[in-house]
This record gives sequence, C-alpha cells and structure tokens, in this order.
Amino acid sequence: MKAHIVGGGFGGLAAAAYLIRNAQVPGEDITIYEADARMGGGFFLGGSSESGYNLPGSVFDAEFRCTFYLLDVVPSASNPGVSIKEEFFTFNKNHPFDDRARLIDRNGRIVHGPRFGLSWGDGFHLARLALTPEAKLDGRRIEEFFTPHFFASEFWLCYSTIMGSLPQHSAMELRRYLNRTLHMFPYISDMANIWRTPFDQYDTFIVPLVAWLRERGVNLVNGAFVQDVGFDPSRGGITVNRLDYERDGAAISVAVAPDDFVLLTFGSQAADMSTGSMSQAPVPQSAGRSWALWKRLAQSRPSFGNPDAFFGAAHVSDSRWVTFTVTTRGKEFLDLMSALTDSETGSGGLVSLIDSAWMLSLSIFHQPEIIDQPDGTYVWWGYGLFPERTGNFVPKPMNECTGAEILEEVLRQLRFDEQFDAIMASSICIPCDMPYANNIWLKRTSTDRPPPVPEGSTNLGLVGQYVEVSRDVAFTIEYSARTAWEAIRTLLKRGPAPPPVYQAQFDPKALFNALKLFLCPSTTRPPVR
Ligand SMILES: Cc1cc2nc3c(=O)[nH]c(=O)nc-3n(C[C@H](O)[C@H](O)[C@H](O)COP(=O)(O)OP(=O)(O)OC[C@H]3O[C@@H](n4cnc5c(N)ncnc54)[C@H](O)[C@@H]3O)c2cc1C
Repeated sequence: MKAHIVGGGFGGLAAAAYLIRNAQVPGEDITIYEADARMGGGFFLGGSSESGYNLPGSVFDAEFRCTFYLLDVVPSASNPGVSIKEEFFTFNKNHPFDDRARLIDRNGRIVHGPRFGLSWGDGFHLARLALTPEAKLDGRRIEEFFTPHFFASEFWLCYSTIMGSLPQHSAMELRRYLNRTLHMFPYISDMANIWRTPFDQYDTFIVPLVAWLRERGVNLVNGAFVQDVGFDPSRGGITVNRLDYERDGAAISVAVAPDDFVLLTFGSQAADMSTGSMSQAPVPQSAGRSWALWKRLAQSRPSFGNPDAFFGAAHVSDSRWVTFTVTTRGKEFLDLMSALTDSETGSGGLVSLIDSAWMLSLSIFHQPEIIDQPDGTYVWWGYGLFPERTGNFVPKPMNECTGAEILEEVLRQLRFDEQFDAIMASSICIPCDMPYANNIWLKRTSTDRPPPVPEGSTNLGLVGQYVEVSRDVAFTIEYSARTAWEAIRTLLKRGPAPPPVYQAQFDPKALFNALKLFLCPSTTRPPVR
C-alpha cells in the first residue's frame, strides 16, 4: 500500500506524520508532492537578513489538540532535546503577551474601556449568534446579526484584527470562532492567553517536522505540480487510479493501485502570493495553481464542493491582506514602540492603528524571531486588513505600495517624524500581497467545502482549510491537521479518532470569566489559563 499526498503545507506534512504514527504506514511508502520549491505552504520564511525577511504573523492557543498530539513526538529545531510541543508550551508560559496598547487612535491614545465597549445589546447579539444552529446560517453575513455600534466597539476592533473577520464575512465562521475562542474574550486586549511560536512558524513547525519525516524515509518531492488525478471507471464510486504531475517541464504519470491512498490539499490561503522590495510593489499573480486541481475535479462532481466561493477574482477585495516584514539593524523603531506602548520588545501582542485607512496592525516579535537571525538585526511585522483603501499619508492602495511607502505610512501614522530618516535608512521592509489570505472567512454555504472523504470514495481523501469538518475554525493549522486525521481514519480505519474540538462555551471557567467581563466590567482580568 502506497500513500500519495498532494501539497506539502502543514496539512500534507501532518497527514504523512499521522499515517506513520496512527496507521503504521512505513515512511518509505509515503510520497508528498509539493508544487513550490519548499515545503511549508502558508508557513513560509522567505528572504534573508541581508535582503530582508518575509514571514507570516503568529496566533495560537493551547487548544490546538490535533497539532500538539503530533508535535509532542517531533524534536524541536532549536533544541532537539525537547519536543516542538514542549518548546512551544514552555516559551508561552515564560513569555505570555502583556499587551498594554492593543488599540491606538489617531492621536496616539490607547483605546481601552470597561467591557471593551460592548453594550448589553451587543452581548445579546453575540450570544444569539453563538446559539444559532449552523444549519440556519447558510450564506449569511456577520453584519446581519449586529448593529453599527458593535462594529465600532473596542471588542470588535481587537477581535477582527486578531482573527481577520469583516462585517461582510461568514456568520457561520464567526459562530464557530465565538464558541472556540470564548475563553479568550477577557484577554482580547492584553492577549495574555493568545500564544505564538518561539521562533517564526517555518523554523518552529515546518523545519523539524520535515526533518522527522525525512528520517523516516518519506519521499518529499518539491517542484511537482499535480495537474490531474484519474478515476477508475470500472469501480463505480470514486477510486483514483492515476496521478499526473509536472516537474521541471516533464509530464509524469504515477499509477495508483486500488489499495493505495491519495490525499489532496485543496487550495491555499497563500495562493498567488507575491512579494516586493523596498523599491518595488508586489507584482500581482494570477496563476491559480493551488486551487486548479480542486476546480478541475469539482467541475464534474458536485460532492467536491465549490472552489468559486473562495477563489477567483470575484471576492478578492474581501479576502486580500497585505503583510510586511521589516528587518532592521537599528533599534530606533523598537525603542520608540516600547516607549509608546509601555512594553518591552516582544512582550506586547498586536498593536492596531485603528484610524489608519489600511487598518494597520503591528507585531513586535520577541527577538530573535528567526533561528539564525544575526546579532544586531531585529525583525518586526505588520499587516493591513483593508489594503485596497487609499493610505492616509501615502495616497495609494497598500497592495500597490513599495516597502518604503508602507514603512513611511506606518511611521507617519505613529508620528515618529523625528526619527523617520534614521528608521528608513536602517530598515528593509518587504511587502507581501496575499489576495486569498482571508478567504476562509468568506460567506459560504455548508456544501461549499467537501468532506474529508467524499461520498463513494474508496481511496481518496481531502485535506486543508477548504475541507469541511464540524466546529473547528479554519484560519489555523489545527484545522488542516484535523482534516488530515479525519480523512486517514475514515479511509484506513486505523488508529484513534481525533480529539474533540475545544468548545469554550462548555468550559465552566471560560463561561464564568466571559460572564464576569459583562457583569463586573471593572474587575481585573482573571489569572491566565
Ligand atoms: C498571513 C498568515 C498568517 C497566518 N498565521 C497563522 C497562525 O498564526 N496560526 C495558525 O494556526 N495559522 C495561521 N495561518 C494559517 C496557516 O497558514 C494555514 O492554516 C496552513 O498553512 C494551512 O495548511 P495547509 O497545508 O492546509 O495549506 P497550505 O499551507 O496553504 O499548503 C498547501 C500546499 O499545497 C500545495 N499545493 C496545492 N495544490 C497543489 C498541487 N496541485 N500540486 C502540488 N502542490 C499543491 C501548495 O503549493 C501549498 O504549498 C496564517 C495564514 C496566513 C496567510
């Protein structure tokens, strides 16, 4: 029995690890085909300290159950004496966020008030949505459930800039988020129980996981774009008998036996990502490779879902993020931010500039952020939730800006005018356009994402954020890991079932703390979980 996995993001890598750990499939019988030159998908690390790094931000909590089950047996890259899980938990216990300036307005004032600005009506609407059965939320938008007061509240500004939600997004996904993250509500401003990776996500998760798979003989094939899979017509249901991929200009076809397994990653939040430089804006891409296979298969099979709900030009204005990573040899910016936010470098979480047209959020990492980051180099990160709007100081949409223009907008927003020249001279800002980064939030129906094993399938499973599993939230590696585990267990009928999704609404402590937030708004925050 051979296993073929298409996509080497966290979901595909996790699938290989579950096959080994839970289903006792030998590593040498597993092949991962990845279109990109590196494994990792949305967890990437581009550039260098000289040219400027490019990486995504970092939001986790302690309840990534499928993920940490796996990462408990994989040694960390920075300290092979401990597992990735142990490294991650120890780091977060020792370095909890203590964000004292989560939101800053146009006058440089920190915005923070009792109950995070929520009215009793807002609280009622939140509870109503959380309690509405998902079946009644097909195709519905968040804005249908709230008043304008809610969208102007501190709570919504904190929540939406951490999670990515917009008023026009999916009410179904927000319902899942509310129930999954209720335990975070009292900490939505200081971020004290929101976790992060000790180093960037590629170094923390992908490098050691790839090494672990390699040691076990897994075949990792990069630069292999899988264009099609063939189905055996004599078997009636869905039985894959062929996999076609293109590599280095050559077309290669692999025969798949009926007792082999194929796991396909459908889509990527990092699809069509493009980077720029200090002097060049990212050049838009429209290759569409990461959802091409999904689109091809869904055309003739309705049970494969609806990729058009997430991908294609139609919804990009509701899903685009522009991120930027700043690599600097000077400490001016970090020192100014420490003074502004009353936090040591790396102890604050996100800082959102709520009056900026792009809705800029900044994250000053604990240093070093990258394992081999040279001494005297510092890295920080940011993103714009509304990148297609015109900037306040730079009169352009963010996705059309060079790194220098984005950095200029940030510095002008912060009124760091005196140190402007010094910061510009010592910094490299790499802009990164991600037209689909936020598409998991798009309004959807319950059939837009196919199940981990489509009906009638004998040897095909589906993995990733565009595959439907109940209750979990999709902007997480946990979601992709869960789909992989579900698909493997359903197809192979081996190993334990995935642990249940953490549901904070059934956790008495989380409920109590959330109620206290409303009933005793002046109380200090409860101890961190
Ligand atoms: C800016 C940003 C920040 C994020 N921060 C966090 C965070 O802090 N915490 C968190 O949990 N999650 C975060 N995420 C989400 C995280 O990146 C995803 O959950 C995760 O990457 C999903 O893994 P995946 O394997 O399903 O998909 P991906 O990582 O997107 O990987 C899919 C891979 O499949 C490949 N592929 C697709 N089709 C084919 C084909 N036909 N042939 C060959 N290869 C193919 C693609 O090239 C890609 O590498 C973030 C995402 C973004 C964009």
